[in-house]
Amino acid sequence: MIYYHESARDIPIVEEADVVVCGAGPAGVAAAIAAARSGAKTRLLELQGCLGGMWTAGLISWVIESKHPGIMQEINAELDRRGARLGRGRDYAYDPEVMKLLLEELCVKAGVHIQMHTRVVAAGQDGAGRITHAITESASGRQAWAGRVFIDATGNGDLAALAGCGFDVGREGTGETQPMGLICLVAGVDMEAARPFLCLPDEGHQEAKRLMLAELQRAGVSPSYAAPSLFPLGGDLYVFSTNHEYGVSGMDAADLTRATIHARAELHQIVNGLRSLGGIWRHMRLVATGAHIGIREGRRIHGLYQVSREDLLRGVRHEDAVCRVTVGIDVHSTDPKTTKAYSAENRTRTLPYDIPLRALIARDVPGLLMAGRCISGDFLAHASYRMTGTSATLGQAAGVLAAVAARQETLPANVPWSEVRPALQAIIESA
Ligand SMILES: Cc1cc2nc3c(=O)[nH]c(=O)nc-3n(C[C@H](O)[C@H](O)[C@H](O)COP(=O)(O)OP(=O)(O)OC[C@H]3O[C@@H](n4cnc5c(N)ncnc54)[C@H](O)[C@@H]3O)c2cc1C
Repeated sequence: MIYYHESARDIPIVEEADVVVCGAGPAGVAAAIAAARSGAKTRLLELQGCLGGMWTAGLISWVIESKHPGIMQEINAELDRRGARLGRGRDYAYDPEVMKLLLEELCVKAGVHIQMHTRVVAAGQDGAGRITHAITESASGRQAWAGRVFIDATGNGDLAALAGCGFDVGREGTGETQPMGLICLVAGVDMEAARPFLCLPDEGHQEAKRLMLAELQRAGVSPSYAAPSLFPLGGDLYVFSTNHEYGVSGMDAADLTRATIHARAELHQIVNGLRSLGGIWRHMRLVATGAHIGIREGRRIHGLYQVSREDLLRGVRHEDAVCRVTVGIDVHSTDPKTTKAYSAENRTRTLPYDIPLRALIARDVPGLLMAGRCISGDFLAHASYRMTGTSATLGQAAGVLAAVAARQETLPANVPWSEVRPALQAIIESA
């Protein structure tokens, strides 16, 4: 590797916030809303041109673990009010365009200061290592955002890694990660006719996925994800998850590019294949692919507590619990030579377990919290708590803690649980 030496330069400090949230996926949006509602001047920085992360830019259109109290309930109710939710159970489908608008409205109403199209590229720290600034690149050039407390909700844990936090990636020992997946919207299929192939809310999906795989094979297509899932979104619109990209890193732009190009080509091939069968598929068309390929796994940042497989097996309870997770282990195959569907670990019997606030507090860098899939946990625990309903709930807790710490002019790690709990309760009750 040869290097280009970049000279040091002064960059503008745009503002001083109480709480700076980096990344606006389910975790970041909930963190920002919770912090702002708790009275903190809150800045939300997001790379994409919409809020919601995998909910919107990633098009997943399917919330898992929606029953958590608080902001998640508010989102559920608002989607209902707008006629944009299908299903009322733990997991449901929603209209991703309505979700984009809803999240913007909730953030604006809460008083969150939003900047999209902006990537966090560096962390400013004081002499003691405390994080003081998020440095960004955008159409406005390089900028600095000062804050009292920072929340890394980038999914991959970008801010924490830039600040020097320790982290783990993938399986212990090998570093193998779950595959990425590009999601797409498809249309032009009659819902009644397609019923046997559909993953419907409140129903088992195994048989529908099996039939869909057989249908693809009948069309001469062998999908990289052997549990293809077609979820109805209302009318003749569907979300289709049928792609896996194995052995690629979400922290490597060349890998991301290769995976995206491969995935998009596969999705077109699959839809063209189904259409060529005629019958119920004859008018099927691919409406849109996600703005960003879905990354199941990035960095798991070291926190004051690490959520572990043993926690799931024992159904662990914590005094400082911020979320009780009911979903079991969901590992998409890390080895396509063995299976292109799910790993055998998914058969592990688990119990509902708590995630403590300590798993959201960075161990190595003062002033930094994590929310969403980059919190502190091991490979198998992450495969359970990575779902969007849980991510949003973790975000809410991080937002409340950040606001309390900022108000008390102390570090998040120094705020007693007894002072976070009532503040968290107030947010939940106001939702
Ligand atoms: C293919 C796939 C399918 C899935 N299916 C489901 C499902 O059906 N239901 C479900 O509940 N969960 C599903 N999941 C899991 C779920 O989507 C994620 O684990 C969840 O979205 C994590 O939320 P998050 O807020 O931590 O991260 P993300 O949703 O990944 O959001 C992170 C946000 O940070 C932004 N960001 C990243 N880096 C930077 C940076 N440096 N600067 C600024 N912004 C940045 C991103 O643009 C994004 O908006 C799926 C995941 C994948 C990959």
